[in-house]
Amino acid sequence: SEFLPKDHPRYESIRMREHLVDMVDAKVLAPEGLIAHGRGEAFDYLIGEKTPDCVLGPIRAAAAALLTAERPIISLNGNAAALCPEAMVELAEATGAKLEINLFYRSRERIEAITKLMEKAGAREILGTDEARQGQIPEIGSERKRVDSEGILIADTVFVPLEDGDRTEALVKMGKRVITIDLNPLSRTSRTASISIMDHIVRAVPAMTRAAIELKKLNKTECLTVLDGFDNDKAFAEALRFISARLKALAGDAS
Ligand code: ATP
Ligand code: MG
Repeated sequence: SEFLPKDHPRYESIRMREHLVDMVDAKVLAPEGLIAHGRGEAFDYLIGEKTPDCVLGPIRAAAAALLTAERPIISLNGNAAALCPEAMVELAEATGAKLEINLFYRSRERIEAITKLMEKAGAREILGTDEARQGQIPEIGSERKRVDSEGILIADTVFVPLEDGDRTEALVKMGKRVITIDLNPLSRTSRTASISIMDHIVRAVPAMTRAAIELKKLNKTECLTVLDGFDNDKAFAEALRFISARLKALAGDAS
C-alpha cells in the first residue's frame, strides 16, 4: 500500500491482507476466506511466524507421499490460489501431481477467475472445471462434495491445504491419504489428516517443493521408507510441545 512504510513490523502480513482483499474483488476469494486467513494468522503468532523445525518431518513426508502416489491431486481453494499460485504450479511440476479447483462457495464466476489466475501462474492442466465430469464425495453437504471424476474422486493421495474438517474426514473415509497445511494444530482438519503441516501456506508449499526435489534423488523404496516412518499423532504432539515450550520461554519460565 502507498500508506504502508516498508519497515512497518507487520509489513508482510498487512501486504498479504491487502492482496487478499483485492482477490475478493477479483472473485478469486470468497469473503469468508478472509476470516479463515485471520484465524490462521493468530496461530502464526504462536509459532513465531516461521517454519518450526518440528514441521520439517511432515513436510518431507508430504513430499514423499505426493511423489510415490499413483494418482496425486493438489486441491486448490480460493485462499491457496490467491496466496501462492506460482508455488502451487511448481509443486505440481516437482511431484507430478495434478491441480484441481475445489471450492466451498462454488460458482462459475469463481472457477473462471481462479482458472485464469492459475494459468497466468503457469498451470497447464486444471481439473475441477468441467461440470460434465463431476463426481461426488459421499457424506458431504456443501458444494465441496463436487469433485472431478478424473481427479479427486479417483485420487489415492490428496493435498488439501487450508481445508475444512468435514471434507478432510470424508476423504480419509474414502481411503485416501490426505495431506493438509493448517496453522491451527487443533483444527479438525489437522487432527484428521494423514499428514498435517502446521505452517503458513506461503512458507510450507515452497518447502514441500524443495523436499520433493531432494527426495527425487532417492529411489521409490527409499521414498516409501520416509513415508512409512511418519507418524501424524507423534507430529501433532511435537507441534503442541513446540508451542508450549515457546510460550514458556517467552514467559521467562525456566525449562
Ligand atoms: P476445521 O473445520 O478443520 O475444524 P476451521 O473450521 O477452524 O477448521 P476452516 O475455515 O474450515 O477452519 O479452514 C481454514 C483453516 O486454515 C483454519 O484452521 C486456519 O487456521 C487455516 N489457515 C488459514 N489461513 C492459513 C494460511 N495462510 N496458512 C496456513 N493455514 C491457514
Ligand atoms: Mg471448518
